Amino acid sequence: MERADVAVVGLGAMGSMAAWRLASRGARVIGFDRYDPPHTMGSSHGQSRIIRSAYYEGPGYVPLVREAFELWRALERESDESLLTMTGALMIGPPDSELVSGSLLSAREWGLEHEVLQAADVHRRFPRYRLRDDEIAVYDIAAGFVRPEKGVAAALGRARALGAKIHTNTAVERVEPGEVHAGGKAWQVDHVITCTGAWNAAGLLPALDMPLEVTRQCMVWFRPRTPSLHTPEAAPVFVHGTTGDAIHAYGFPSVDGETVKIGVSDDDTPQHPDAIDRVVHPADLEPAVRYVGGALPDLDPEPARSVICLQENSPDRHFVIGTLAPGLTVLGGFSGHGFKFAPVIGDVAADLALDGGTSRPIEQFAPNRLAKVRRT
Ligand SMILES: Cc1cc2nc3c(=O)[nH]c(=O)nc-3n(C[C@H](O)[C@H](O)[C@H](O)COP(=O)(O)OP(=O)(O)OC[C@H]3O[C@@H](n4cnc5c(N)ncnc54)[C@H](O)[C@@H]3O)c2cc1C
Repeated sequence: MERADVAVVGLGAMGSMAAWRLASRGARVIGFDRYDPPHTMGSSHGQSRIIRSAYYEGPGYVPLVREAFELWRALERESDESLLTMTGALMIGPPDSELVSGSLLSAREWGLEHEVLQAADVHRRFPRYRLRDDEIAVYDIAAGFVRPEKGVAAALGRARALGAKIHTNTAVERVEPGEVHAGGKAWQVDHVITCTGAWNAAGLLPALDMPLEVTRQCMVWFRPRTPSLHTPEAAPVFVHGTTGDAIHAYGFPSVDGETVKIGVSDDDTPQHPDAIDRVVHPADLEPAVRYVGGALPDLDPEPARSVICLQENSPDRHFVIGTLAPGLTVLGGFSGHGFKFAPVIGDVAADLALDGGTSRPIEQFAPNRLAKVRRT
């Protein structure tokens, strides 16, 4: 059997970054992916991902996002690629919504730079937006977007340059603590990190008996009528909870100078990752078309392009990070908000695999909390 210190199974957002961080620390790394990342079959494609600091999902994420910013900049320096663009973020909703109150809680608890803007202030400062009169926005200053495909490619490039052995188009068939089986061969390793995204729930790991679900999401690009309103300087990224606490829409400035990406999550039907319909149908476009008609009227409501993306959800929408058995770590359940953290999650994985523990605040992501969810 061939040997390595650590095997990384799945080389999307989390796996590519884990391979980079492990190789940076001098570990002998072997990595596997069933496709050739970056690709469009999982969760890490579509030109842009939001990164923000005033984390409405909980103040416990703030120290991790701070480290993630530093590591994104480190990856930019090492790879000589531009990966992170700062724009600020508008977290929009009624004042008592989870989106607004949760963002304010994190901002106040950690002393993050922010402003509270009334609907008319938002329109005056960032003219592309139309808020309802009963909505406000938390303007989170340390925020922007990262580039998913370029980020995954940069991390894999660095991992390879630092000696990692990367096997693409090689699906792992079986994982055990200390052992990985793929393409009729077996590798012996001290530690296995599994981060197969939407496929985490599909049975690769018998120990991963967790209620993770996969949903199908559509991202849609629209053409602006007035491009100057949608540049990264003029248009912060945003998340908009249009009805109470339900998070509905998110979007970006123009990244390519020609189109603006919008996503509206309205379908929570669980699906099997290998049975996902990859074709975009008119019904998939309709929620985003309706949304831009009301909130972003400068966008031409005729979609310019669109793509399907897979989202892996945990029951409480918090991450699942931890060592399941000696020599076996899982990174999963990133629930539509994990990409921004990928470099720091990769570094946490390196802590767990090489040091047997981490000083980072990951107790909130303990896998065994989900066993408790299942029993109740
Ligand atoms: C539409 C959408 C919008 C999002 N927006 C944001 C955002 O704005 N900000 C943010 O922070 N997050 C966002 N997210 C979430 C973020 O993109 C995900 O949390 C992140 O990409 C998950 O990364 P991953 O490594 O878990 O999965 P992936 O990147 O999908 O990687 C999993 C990899 O495992 C491989 N694999 C699967 N099975 C095997 C096997 N048996 N053997 C070998 N390899 C295997 C796959 O081929 C894949 O490459 C969004 C997600 C979606 C779907």
